[in-house]
Amino acid sequence: MSTVGTKFTNEMLIDIPVTDIHVHLPGIISPAVAWELGVRNGFITITTGQNQRVWHNGPKSLSINNPHEHYSDIFQNANDDKILFDNNYKPIDLAYHIEHRSFKDFDRVMATVQGHRFPPGGIQNEDDIRLIFDSYLKEATENKIFYTELQQNIKIAHNIYYNKKPKEARKCFFLLLNSIRQNFEAHGVYIRFLNCFNKTKAAQSNLSTHERALEAVDWLIEAQEVAHGLFVGIESAGHEKDPAGWPIHLKAGYEKAKALGFGCEAHGGEGIGSEHLSDIIDTLELSRIAHGFQMIEDLEVISKIKKKGITVCISPIINLMLGACIHLKDNIPTKKSDGGIAEYIEHIHLHPIFKLLREHHCKIALCSDNPHLGGVGIKSVIKILTGLSEAYEFPDEILPLTAEEVVEMSINSINAAFCHNIIKSQYKAKLSEFIKKYNIKTEYKN
Ligand SMILES: [Zn+2]
Repeated sequence: MSTVGTKFTNEMLIDIPVTDIHVHLPGIISPAVAWELGVRNGFITITTGQNQRVWHNGPKSLSINNPHEHYSDIFQNANDDKILFDNNYKPIDLAYHIEHRSFKDFDRVMATVQGHRFPPGGIQNEDDIRLIFDSYLKEATENKIFYTELQQNIKIAHNIYYNKKPKEARKCFFLLLNSIRQNFEAHGVYIRFLNCFNKTKAAQSNLSTHERALEAVDWLIEAQEVAHGLFVGIESAGHEKDPAGWPIHLKAGYEKAKALGFGCEAHGGEGIGSEHLSDIIDTLELSRIAHGFQMIEDLEVISKIKKKGITVCISPIINLMLGACIHLKDNIPTKKSDGGIAEYIEHIHLHPIFKLLREHHCKIALCSDNPHLGGVGIKSVIKILTGLSEAYEFPDEILPLTAEEVVEMSINSINAAFCHNIIKSQYKAKLSEFIKKYNIKTEYKN
């Protein structure tokens, strides 16, 4: 399998304006910011001794139900005291404690950093949210991220504004995010939000999944009344194994969201196999599917996704890092019900994205998913897939993504975004300049 096209260069990587339409809010929190949140919220105390500063756990403690004993356990080497600090006692090269291919580690760290599953956690007040977004804005401008869609459960508002009634708390949260949106826009970055709820029992809610899906839409309506166009769609997440989260329970919520004009995306096709993905596609009216790479196991699922015009938001690097699997029989992707056995995607060139793009001509949007937590930023995703990263080598028979392919996926991404068309046109104008500058042979015309 190979293709012809323009080699993507480091210069192009710096220059290309990008979009990132599948990003989880906790995923934009870098380890350094998470450390700062820990210090601000009293999970980590820094004391000054004889000419020396030291940190220790406390005085605040995590909940007994939190998957970590101490907040500092989310960082690598924290308990061996191996964290290095600069002159201002800010940690250097801090990393999250997520073992290779450990989705469980990832989920644990996410739960503690975000904190709404077993409060208290890293995010507790408005200033915490502002700190997180100030840092993300800096990255977004440095990396020429023109448009980004962040997903977060609106429920977090009840923690941030714990002393207000739930509806009032949500209103305050919308106003806060709206002021963040305005600040981003002033710096040339457009940001929108999806209400992402956990569809499984992990949500720790008394409501059924059916009820939670409908509630998620009610909160989108509330958001719309407070700040128009801020929350643009619905998203559901959680382990595919849990039948509580299967598509039939989400159906009514998604139908309602669609009827009201909200964008509809769901996670799927990253866990138990293409059969489950097929069920999601048949049951829910989606314009985007998140991950979806297990569709490679079944030609019928691929054809269904294409026929429905669904854009697949693929984040190959976090897939590799967290141990994503596809079902294989004699090394050929085969659905589980036909005897396929789950195997890790061993190397980047074995990720289905290349075949889905080149052989099946699927509409794919490249996404980061979680730029800091478990994954890498969108520019690093592009860097790796275009063969510019020494850490990810490509064999001769697989050509890394070409400049034409990166452009094609950038167009797919903005076309599938849930924002207003004016933003889409602005992005396309910027991308057209890029195409012209590098003489990229694309059929795309602005
Ligand atoms: Zn995701």
